Amino acid sequence: MSRLQQVTVLGATGSVGLSTLDVIARHPDRYQVFALTGFTRLNELLALCVRHAPRFAVVPEAAAARGLQEDLRAAGLATQVLVGEEGLCQVSADAEVDTVVAAIVGAAGLRPTLAAVDAGKKILLANKEALVMSGALFMQAVRKSGAVLLPLDSEHNAIFQCMPGDFSRGLSQVGVRRILLTASGGPFRQTPSAELEHVSPDQACAHPNWSMGRKISVDSASMMNKGLELIEACWLFDARPDQVEVVIHPQSVIHSLVDYVDGSVLAQLGNPDMRTPIANALAWPERIDSGVAPLDLFAIARLDFEAPDEQRFPCLRLARQAAEAGNSAPAMLNAANEVAVAAFLDGRIRFPQIASIIEDVLSLEPVVAVNDLGAVFEADAKARALAGQWLNRNAR
Ligand code: NAD
Ligand code: MG
Repeated sequence: MSRLQQVTVLGATGSVGLSTLDVIARHPDRYQVFALTGFTRLNELLALCVRHAPRFAVVPEAAAARGLQEDLRAAGLATQVLVGEEGLCQVSADAEVDTVVAAIVGAAGLRPTLAAVDAGKKILLANKEALVMSGALFMQAVRKSGAVLLPLDSEHNAIFQCMPGDFSRGLSQVGVRRILLTASGGPFRQTPSAELEHVSPDQACAHPNWSMGRKISVDSASMMNKGLELIEACWLFDARPDQVEVVIHPQSVIHSLVDYVDGSVLAQLGNPDMRTPIANALAWPERIDSGVAPLDLFAIARLDFEAPDEQRFPCLRLARQAAEAGNSAPAMLNAANEVAVAAFLDGRIRFPQIASIIEDVLSLEPVVAVNDLGAVFEADAKARALAGQWLNRNAR
């Protein structure tokens, strides 16, 4: 490779951000960190800056920026600290940046990710909420700028690896019948409905196979994560919702599959470690070491599959309905879910009420067309306001 790839990591202090930096640190001959961003845990951001010496760091507000800037200077670093969404968009779009890792959680990642898209970068997308909210506009912007969009979500990275190179011609054109999207089933896969009333945030965040941030961990427990992933898959692979089937696979060894018209089913397997999809997308179309141990099939011994239970996990049904309704529905689903998950993590509502809030919010607002980003944020704000009202009426 002729020169070092300049990489911006949005959400560097998070679970995906840290895994990304672990892979990058294994390949100093290929990658250089251009910018790191954090929102909380700014001491951790300082330590990451000391380790990776980025050109820029981004924090949410001015006072924190001054503090970090002083600490960086004291550490002998020339890293410049930027502030807020403007700073995030700047380090996403900077002319020197090659690759942007979009690993902010939630709607907060949309504008910075779109800034990278509009600037025609190579984007490694973990921030599924951004794509769910703005799907059609996001994909239009990718086509317009010529940005290269590569999925980091393990399932979508697996599907990407199992698709033919020219899948953008259309799934039927390339002989794909269905996408089989695997799900671990989360920590409550076998928990009876009645007990779901009493599960705690810590129980919801104790995922059996993956170590992740708290929001996505709750999403995995409610299966909203798989619902968001269904919508994500529809946009990434130009699939209809009925072409994506969710398969519970508790071992999380098969990360998803593609079913072809000739009966061939291609799967991608690996240990459940985000460094595999991250390394795959960073180096694509080449392959690099990720630090992940080789898969030991003898230790795994068996792979199980079951159908999802939409009675116990209504979030999956709600997400499928939003995928079918399209337009403003996915943005509203996502926003209501973000409010509900935060309330659950704060101990204000019980676990099954996450789905109740989302269902109520979606039933209160008609689905409207979203022709621009303003309309997406309007739908997002409406859903947050309605979910907030629900909490004021019903939460402790
Ligand atoms: P996390 O909570 O561990 O990290 C989130 C990052 O975003 C942190 O760096 C945090 O500082 C930053 N952040 C949070 N709120 C912000 C805001 N308002 N503005 C700017 N920055 C903000 O989350 P994670 O588990 O790393 O997940 C990140 C994204 O990747 C999510 O969209 C998630 O769905 C997706 N994802 C994660 C995993 C995983 O294994 N963790 C797997 C697949 C997809
Ligand atoms: Mg996933």
